Amino acid sequence: MTNSVKMLDGNAIPQLGLGVWQASNEQVVSAIHAAFDAGYRLIDTASVYENESGVGTAIKSSNLAREDIFVTSKLWNKDQGNVQKALEKSLTLLELDYLDCYLIHWPAPSLGQYTNAWKELIKAQHSGLVKSIGVSNFLPEHIDTLIQQTGVTPVINQIEKHPLFSQQSISKWCTERDILVQAWSPLAQGGEGIFERPEVMAIAAAHQKSPAQVVLRWHIQKNTLVIPKSVTPSRIAENIDVFDFVLTPDELKTIDALDKNQRLGPDPLDFV
Ligand code: NAD
Repeated sequence: MTNSVKMLDGNAIPQLGLGVWQASNEQVVSAIHAAFDAGYRLIDTASVYENESGVGTAIKSSNLAREDIFVTSKLWNKDQGNVQKALEKSLTLLELDYLDCYLIHWPAPSLGQYTNAWKELIKAQHSGLVKSIGVSNFLPEHIDTLIQQTGVTPVINQIEKHPLFSQQSISKWCTERDILVQAWSPLAQGGEGIFERPEVMAIAAAHQKSPAQVVLRWHIQKNTLVIPKSVTPSRIAENIDVFDFVLTPDELKTIDALDKNQRLGPDPLDFV
């Protein structure tokens, strides 16, 4: 079972959840059932993943109460001028009355629409369609604009973050403003060689855990939220089994030293 963290708006969010990018509607049903069985309560999807209907089917066919599940979805870039319609479509596909969290997926600054989109998210929160609102892939300058224009601070910034790209500066900036940092690709999309690094393997052996568990534990001890993706039941269970051991300060530093400032995904400044 994962622990929960308080957000700026007073709502709570599980520190660890299941990411479902690149999983089909069919795959997510069994993956989410395996995740619920293993103790997950947060599912991270997005309209662009085209699997919201599978997520809805999985939730409906689970025996969990709606209020015990935390569902995040994201507004796709081309919908920044059409928030209400995009949100309604996500809710319909998910078969839900409300989202626990709705994120603007990318700032896409060249579109010049993210501030207006944020105003629409604020309205959606007031109308109860969304409990919490946040952003993804936003740089400090984009978040500053939102705060200056609306006075409302996003509760979360979901960003690429893993040992090869540890994003210390933006993480510190967000933490100073009580914005929670949620890591996407927390496992560097399956390792990128980090699971085979001798120093990571040595830490894993010392705790009788896997390298993936060591990486997730590193995030957790840095107060980062994580949404590792897997559709394999054994890995789904492995990835949440990270709350019964503690990395030492030296072990944390060893993982810190893997940082190469190496992005695996797009640059938020020019991605549309
Ligand atoms: P990830 O870092 O979670 O890696 C997932 C991959 O790691 C799996 O496909 C599998 O190959 C491997 N893996 C998983 N568990 C493992 C284990 N225990 N041992 C060994 N290998 C393992 O990568 P991700 O899917 O890119 O990111 C996680 C989630 O973040 C996504 O599913 C999505 O929900 C979200 N995301 C958001 C954005 C965004 O722009 N906001 C971008 C990318 C991903």
